[in-house]
Amino acid sequence: MTQGYCVKCRTKREMKNTKSVTTKNGRPATKGVCPVCGTKMYRIGKGEDRVIRVTTKAVSKSWLADVPADKVFRCQDGRVMKNMEELVVALREMSGDTFRYHVSADRNDFSKWVEDVIGDYELSAGLKNSSTRSQAGKAVADRIVWLKRQVGTTIR
Ligand SMILES: [Zn+2]
Repeated sequence: MTQGYCVKCRTKREMKNTKSVTTKNGRPATKGVCPVCGTKMYRIGKGEDRVIRVTTKAVSKSWLADVPADKVFRCQDGRVMKNMEELVVALREMSGDTFRYHVSADRNDFSKWVEDVIGDYELSAGLKNSSTRSQAGKAVADRIVWLKRQVGTTIR
């Protein structure tokens, strides 16, 4: 079983009809399709022990996009976020109490939202390791810069 990231479902899934291939620069990769929607999936590396590191242009774009209206992040202070950019602003402006409401020893709502709704497991992991507002804000801001570079968008 090999996990990949489905751009359409915006989630990690076990790939179906997997096939080992070699990328142009000679690295092993696995090709397959999403078992739910049939979208083509692609993942660098072979075997299930390898961490998924595929971040194509399309994936980067989908992670930067607005989430569906029913999946927005509702902050304790009433603020609503629908994408990473808004998360950066919110992290910058929210009070320490609000941050601590969402982030504690056994809970990290930002990390969970980024993983479950946006689907960016790398940023989710980065947020999990951020125990302060500024660390979390930097993790998201840095990630946006990196993702925009993948997409080829000019950074403001
Ligand atoms: Zn899918």
